[in-house]
Amino acid sequence: MPGGVSSPVRAFRGVGGEPVFVRSAEGAHLVGEDGRSYIDYIGGYGPMILGHGHPEVVEAIRDAAEGGQSFGVPTLGEVELAEAIIEALPSVELVRLVSSGTEATMSALRLARAATGREKVLKYAGCYHGHADSFLVAAGSGAATIGVPSSPGVPSSVTDNTLVAQYNDLDATAGLFERHSDEIAAVIVEPVAGNMGLVPPRDGFLEGLRQLCTQSGTLLVFDEVMTGFRVAWGGAQVRLWHPQVRTEHQPDLTCLAKVIGGGLPVAAYGGRRDLMEQIAPSGNVYQAGTLSGNPIAVAAGRKTLEILGRDNGIAYDRLEASAASLEAGLAALGEKYELTWKIQRCGSMLSFFFADQPVQQLSDVDGSRRELWKRLFHQLLANGVHLPPSPYETLFVSTAHGPREIEETLAAFDRSLAQSELS
Ligand code: PLP
Repeated sequence: MPGGVSSPVRAFRGVGGEPVFVRSAEGAHLVGEDGRSYIDYIGGYGPMILGHGHPEVVEAIRDAAEGGQSFGVPTLGEVELAEAIIEALPSVELVRLVSSGTEATMSALRLARAATGREKVLKYAGCYHGHADSFLVAAGSGAATIGVPSSPGVPSSVTDNTLVAQYNDLDATAGLFERHSDEIAAVIVEPVAGNMGLVPPRDGFLEGLRQLCTQSGTLLVFDEVMTGFRVAWGGAQVRLWHPQVRTEHQPDLTCLAKVIGGGLPVAAYGGRRDLMEQIAPSGNVYQAGTLSGNPIAVAAGRKTLEILGRDNGIAYDRLEASAASLEAGLAALGEKYELTWKIQRCGSMLSFFFADQPVQQLSDVDGSRRELWKRLFHQLLANGVHLPPSPYETLFVSTAHGPREIEETLAAFDRSLAQSELS
């Protein structure tokens, strides 16, 4: 296996050293092949919002598996999952299920290009939208730039159509709109960025994008693969734009994955009816998948959403409380050890950066003291806390992270900071 792994970040290249091989996981804990237990903040990179092996989700998966693995024909489960998504997200009137976040963003872009008759897409440095060619573009540091492929094998003829601006930089975005008016099919953005650590949108950034897109006939695509049903019931658009999300503030298309699959491969893209009706077989924009809407995966997703939606979404209050107490505890440790770090959080997603100023865009993360972050990562691992192995990833808190797990985590941070002399 290249690098010994099925997906690059797992190889620990971001922190150095050897990855932990995991045998199993339960609740907030991972158990390594060597039998050691770790409090887990990877959360499967987002899906495991209810913790690992939630008994009701496991039962739903078992029941579905007993009914067969894959049919290639429509099922009621798909309809029910689609209804749950549409009910939670006022901007989504029709939705198509797919199997990965990459498929969702790639398909949304195809639709945007078809619907507008334009070819360019504008993305933000440090936002990750999966590994489709159009999105694999290096972030030009500083000024907004025309994209350069960030991987061999990505044709420049494709990325010539990808424009890149710095996250939170509305002026740079407006500049690109001025230069490329009538050419931009879509702006795609993580409404709360989670792929350069956790970087919230500045006040007015998303609203400004909405305005620019509306003025230019460009579609606004929210990539909520990570934030969907994670930072709120529905996602970031509901958290940030409620109650205007019902009226003037809405993305045209939304991409989802991770939480909506409950740890199995389910993803989706959806949005305005007039756009989504252009997808085959209603329309002629082709997109398909043998395993799309797989019954076992859909069962895991439906049960996860059902649990999250119970009692008016009380699970989100618990997630908020746990993540807030982690944030407060880290802030107190920062004072104790006189650390210059910035803790950034949105709901149950959290990051800390060894930086003097709040992090607002990729260049701020690049400029942070990432060596300190890596040292602390290894010290924490030795003390039984497994963060995602890169300062560019976000920590995920689950409903299985209760007061005890947070307390144990903070005690491990305390020990690690004492041992690693980072200040
Ligand atoms: N979009 C965002 C915001 C993501 O965080 C990811 C993956 O982490 C993707 C798209 C790609 O999703 P997948 O890995 O399921 O293809």
